Formats: sequence, C-alpha cells, structure tokens
Amino acid sequence: MQKWAIGVFASVDAGLGVHLDVAKELGIHTVQVHTPHKESRNEAAAKAFLQRCKEADITITCLFGGFEGESYADIATTARTVGLVPEATRAARAAEMKEISNFAKLLGCNTLGMHIGFVPEKGSASYNSLIAVTRDLLDHVKANGQNMHLETGQETADHLLEFMHDVGRDNLFINFDPANMILYGTGDPIEALKKVGHLVRSIHCKDAKWAAPDQRGKGWGTEVALGDGDVGMETYLRTLQSVGYSGPLTIEREIAHDRERQKADIGQAVRLLESLRTKLLGS
Ligand code: MG
Repeated sequence: MQKWAIGVFASVDAGLGVHLDVAKELGIHTVQVHTPHKESRNEAAAKAFLQRCKEADITITCLFGGFEGESYADIATTARTVGLVPEATRAARAAEMKEISNFAKLLGCNTLGMHIGFVPEKGSASYNSLIAVTRDLLDHVKANGQNMHLETGQETADHLLEFMHDVGRDNLFINFDPANMILYGTGDPIEALKKVGHLVRSIHCKDAKWAAPDQRGKGWGTEVALGDGDVGMETYLRTLQSVGYSGPLTIEREIAHDRERQKADIGQAVRLLESLRTKLLGS
C-alpha cells in the first residue's frame, strides 16, 4: 500500500461513515468500516461486501466495533454509554466484540478498532475489572491473528498509556484521532501524538474547534471540515512523519445527517491531504 494512502471512514448499515459508493466516487481506495448490525455479520454479508470492495479497488484497513445503546449526545452521556467501560453491559459487549473480531476475520481484516470508553481511575475496582475483560478480549483477537486499536480522546494521553501498559498485551495499539482530543477537551493533540506515537498504527484525519476555556471537558468542542479547525493539519502530518507513521490517512467526518455536505467536506479533505502529502513526502 502507498505510504499515507488516503482513506475514509465508511459504514455498511450502521454508524456515521460514508457509504462505499461515496468512497468510490471520490477515488479513495482504503476504508475503515463501522461494523454492521448483528444480523448482517455473517459469511454471506462478508462475501457480498468484499465483492463490492473488490469492484471499487478498495482495501478494508480496520473494522470498528460499536454497540447498541451507545450515545454521543453530550460528554456525560458518552461516558455513561460508550464502549466496554459501562459495567452493566461490559460482559455482553466484550462477548459481542469477539463476534465482531470473528466477522473481521471473514473480511480478511487483521485490525479492529474501538472506543473502549472513559477509562476509570487507576486502582479502582472498575479499572481492574476492565483490565481483565480487555485482556480476555485481546487474547481472542490474537487467536484470530488480529490487533486491536483503541480510539483516542476520551482520556488523556498519559492515562491511555497507563491503561495500555497495565493491560500488557502485545496486540494492543492506538487509532489516533486528533479532533477527539479537542472535542473532549483531553489535551493538545500534537503533544499527545508525540507521547503515544510509538503505539499509533492507524489514524483519523478529523478536525475540530475547542470549546470555550471554561467549558473544556464539560461541553463538546465543534467538529468541522478538515483544515478549518484547531488541529493544524500540516503540523499533524509533520508530527506523524516524525513518529514514523506510514499507514493510511483515514478521513472521518461525522455529519451523516447531511450526506451532501459530508461528501463535499470529504472531497475538500482529500485535496488538502494530497497537497500536504506531496509537500511532505514528494509523492
Ligand atoms: Mg475518530
């Protein structure tokens, strides 16, 4: 695969990603895919999706897990509902994530991604049980020949590193999303990338503006089109270069309620990333 191949977050029947035909239309050849609903996670659906990818010359680089009942309505709701952290659904979701791993195997995809949720404070009972559940999940994922990438943003870079260290599995890596650090108010994304860069194996190209200083970490920042926010795309790519990242640049634009604008913004993002790639890599 080309270094820094352009990608886009896509969906089959769930999640906020674009449909595959949009990727095809924009000339994008790598996708991360939001996992389809349970009833579509079978061999026939995998075959059909792979055939569509093949026809469009598209490679699936990561399958992202997600669960019924998750809501990103506001930061407090996200903390309460997302990932493996909520204790009431933890065991069932860990079991479902194993099924998603099996579905990824049917797709020939060796990378899973997920929001694990807001990692609890180190040493708490919830933290310790999350470690145990994550290890068990990662062992299943490893048996399928896969790695797991955790999405950034719901905790600081330091807390994420601490958690990953305590999990202690060699198939756990990071999907770095600079805009999430801004949206959730969890730290400067460039400084965070320098800290976690050695573990970054996939990334999102997404942009956002900070919430007002007294609102950071309480209310959302604002997601905007790539290049229009506070990440600083050239600095972001230069930092990726300095930490040795060569994987796909996967564009994420989470405005599925406005498909026309989503497509236009992704087109803008492709042009921006291509020009920066030429500037920095000469290709
Ligand atoms: Mg993301």
